[in-house]
Amino acid sequence: MSSLINKEIKELRGKLRRYDYLYYVLSQPVVADKEYDDLMRQLIALENKYPQYRTDDSPSQRLSGGLSAGFETVKHQTGMFSLDNTYSLEELQAWDKRVRKGLGSEEVIGYVVELKIDGVSANLTYREGKFILGATRGDGSTGENVTANLKTIRSIPLVLLGKEHPDLIEIRGEVYMDKEDFLKINRYRQINTQDVFANPRNATSGSLKLLDSQIVAKRPLNFIAHSLGAYQGKSLDTQWEFLSLLKDWGLRLDRHSAFCKDMPAVIGYCRKWLAQRDQVGYEIDGIVVKVNSFKQQQDLGFTAKSPRWAVAYKFPARQATTEVLEINVNVGRTGVITPIAVLKPVKCSGVMISNTTLHNFDEIERLGLRVGDRVLIERAGDVIPKVVKVVEQRGKQPYHKPQKCPACQERIVKEKAIDVAYRCINSNCPAQLERALLHFASRDALDIEGLGEAVIAQLVKLGWLKSLADIYKLKINDLLEVELFKEKKANNLLKAIQISKKQSLARLIFALGIRHVGQKAAYTLAMEFGSMGKLMRSKLGGLDRIPEIGEVMAGSIVGYFHLSQTKKLIRQLKSAQVNMRQEVSKVKINALTGKRIVFTGQLKGFSRSQAEGVVRQFGGITASSVSSKTDFLVAGESTGTKFNKAKELGVKIINEKEFREMIK
Ligand code: NAD
Repeated sequence: MSSLINKEIKELRGKLRRYDYLYYVLSQPVVADKEYDDLMRQLIALENKYPQYRTDDSPSQRLSGGLSAGFETVKHQTGMFSLDNTYSLEELQAWDKRVRKGLGSEEVIGYVVELKIDGVSANLTYREGKFILGATRGDGSTGENVTANLKTIRSIPLVLLGKEHPDLIEIRGEVYMDKEDFLKINRYRQINTQDVFANPRNATSGSLKLLDSQIVAKRPLNFIAHSLGAYQGKSLDTQWEFLSLLKDWGLRLDRHSAFCKDMPAVIGYCRKWLAQRDQVGYEIDGIVVKVNSFKQQQDLGFTAKSPRWAVAYKFPARQATTEVLEINVNVGRTGVITPIAVLKPVKCSGVMISNTTLHNFDEIERLGLRVGDRVLIERAGDVIPKVVKVVEQRGKQPYHKPQKCPACQERIVKEKAIDVAYRCINSNCPAQLERALLHFASRDALDIEGLGEAVIAQLVKLGWLKSLADIYKLKINDLLEVELFKEKKANNLLKAIQISKKQSLARLIFALGIRHVGQKAAYTLAMEFGSMGKLMRSKLGGLDRIPEIGEVMAGSIVGYFHLSQTKKLIRQLKSAQVNMRQEVSKVKINALTGKRIVFTGQLKGFSRSQAEGVVRQFGGITASSVSSKTDFLVAGESTGTKFNKAKELGVKIINEKEFREMIK
């Protein structure tokens, strides 16, 4: 038994060491951080239970991080540490208890809370205000001398501002890349068939370790300062005071940092940023909580790896590694064939993921994906999960796209050579019909409760649904043929179908599933034309003059209403008494009614879609770009080009408070 445990411990250490090397030295991780952290936790738990197997060189006992060849090594004046992690607010409170216990009878004099930037740590040494040395964290006591590379980062001052500088100071912080810049870099690498970076942290670490600083200069790296290393200067009492000094010296700080007088305030801050993490321009993976007083920090001291006076509250991981079990294809309502990766279920961002779209067959080729491969997946916010890259090729055979539609066995083709999507061009394809019916009945379209995927599939199979209009021909006896349908359920569905006839024109237009016409455009069309008849008679020129309807969408709308099957469908819906008019009387009237509104920057009180929903509720139209036809630009925080364009065109700009006044 004991030798088995020792074997397991050794295996865990071996794996973690390998992952450390790939992550820290080569910047090419093959597992997601969450997986690494889970293995580390397992190792720590075993070592705690069986202390006889503890060794000083275990990855749990020392700070990991290798040194890459090609750089001179430098010794830090004081050690650089990692942070202890907590994964729940309860664990954070337990840490607070340990801190208070460690300080005995002394009260904790407040905490400083900072966003945990998911970047790469660096140590900047300034002598008498001059930047003389820049190093990576390395193994914590020795790092790589990357001064030349760090000098290319504009947010690192070569000379500190102000007059009074300490004789010597080590300023520690995070080198990172903004999310937008990271996406640009990866897009560029994709085009040039280079390996994409797994995440901004990886891109930063890869960039910082390039041997040619001229190339580094082209990488959009930034630096945010957050910690103090060695220091010879006027006495400094607190972290909060230190941060304010850094600002005076011209260093960039994380502007979201805050002072919290007690733990409830810390918890409030953690909750807030867990909910708002997507609003920060760079990746954050948690919150760092630090005891504010330097004297108390000193009293608490360090473990082998991390300070006792600071802790990280980690957010749920957004990346995970898993295996691709199969690649299936899905036929959409417009016939587009989409490959889907069936995954070995894995938790990501707190949700179990078992499949994800691969978008198109080119994407499979770009990823070099085979069935059986281990992949890195990512799920950010509410976004559908995506496969970032293959981390380990385990599949034997390259993937071949199917030649036929899996639902109707017809050929699949690309309509134009430049298209990426393959389509099934059989207009009677049952899979397309099912998707179209599902979309028609969906909550955002005609909202027919009870007409879901399984029911539709059976009604199509039974031959009761051959087109969208057949929904309105369904009889109770047809529905009673559906599995598990009794009278009550069938009647409820018939009732829901009746109610759907009264839905707004905007919903009906959206429900038709015209290519490129989403909910917002459907609403604009309903407001502009007021009736289905007028919309059907619209010409390209008429549609083009509506700022929100681009050329491609206009072409698609005209093309759709030109089809004889569309004309037939509309006739049938009309005779089933489905509403074909926009009832303006239902719209609440106020200063937004009939106005074109554009939003820019972040609003405090609304998400973008909530704000747009409010505008629609009052009969206004929202657009994504500013033009001379825009009536108002609502400007939140951190505005950009739309703001300048509105100014240029003389469009009225209002702030969030004024917007609130308008909708009162
Ligand atoms: P860490 O990244 O979890 O936290 C410590 C670091 O946080 C500090 O060194 C500092 O640079 C940074 N930080 C960011 N904002 C900060 C702030 N405001 N104040 C103080 N520090 C701040 O720990 P680590 O030791 O750098 O790395 C260990 C982690 O790296 C592991 O938990 C794991 O998630 C990941 N890792 C992954 C792999 C892999 O193969 N995927 C391998 C090794 C390590």
